[in-house]
Amino acid sequence: MLRLALEKNGRKNLRILCLGAHSDDIEIGCGGTILELLRTRRDLEFHWVVFSSGQDREREARRSAAFFLKGAAASHVTILDFRNSFFPYEGVQIKEFFEDLKTRLSPDLILTHTRDDLHQDHRVINQFSWNTWRNHLILEYEIPKYDGDLGRPDFFVPFDRKISDRKIRHLMSCFKTQRNKHWFSPDTFQGLMRIRGLEANSPGKFAEAFYARKLVLSP
Ligand SMILES: [Zn+2]
Repeated sequence: MLRLALEKNGRKNLRILCLGAHSDDIEIGCGGTILELLRTRRDLEFHWVVFSSGQDREREARRSAAFFLKGAAASHVTILDFRNSFFPYEGVQIKEFFEDLKTRLSPDLILTHTRDDLHQDHRVINQFSWNTWRNHLILEYEIPKYDGDLGRPDFFVPFDRKISDRKIRHLMSCFKTQRNKHWFSPDTFQGLMRIRGLEANSPGKFAEAFYARKLVLSP
C-alpha cells in the first residue's frame, strides 16, 4: 500500500483542527490518530474545539485534551457550552462560531464528525465543517453508538497496541461521568480499533478509520 504523509504547506507547524460536539468525541473518534501523529512528529499545532460541556464535563475535556496533546508544538483548547442534543436548534449561534473561527484559522487538516452520524449534534458539526472550509483536507471520524450507524470508512491511520491502550487508558481515566454508560468501555473502543486495523492491514493490528470525501492528488 502506498502511504500518504502530511505536508506542511510551507509553514513552521502543521495545523490540525479537531472538532467534537461533546467532551469525549474527539478522543473516541480520532484519539489514536492524534497520539500516533504526536509519537512521530513535533511540528504539530492543535486547535481543539468541544461544542457542548457543562461544568464537570468541561473539566474532564480539558484534562483529557492535555493528556492527548502532550508533545504538541502548540495547543489551543476551546470548550463551549451549547446545549447537549439541541444543536439543530442552536444552529445560528453555532454557525456564527464557525464563521468567526474561519477568519482566524486555516487548518491543514480538519478532523470532524462524519456526515451520516445518527446523532443530530454530530451531524450539525459535520455540516458546518464542510460549509466553512472549502479548500481543506477534512477527515470524518466515527463514533460507535446504540443507533448503529457504523459504515464502511475508506481512510485509515494504522498504529500498534501501545497507542490503542494509551487511548483507552486516557478515555477511562479522564471521563468518569461517562463510565456509567454501558457502551463506554475498553472493549468497545478496542474492538472497533482492532476491526479497523484488520481492514487497514495494520502491521500493529490497530487503526482508526475515517471518511475522506474529497482528496486531491498532486503528483
Ligand atoms: Zn458526541
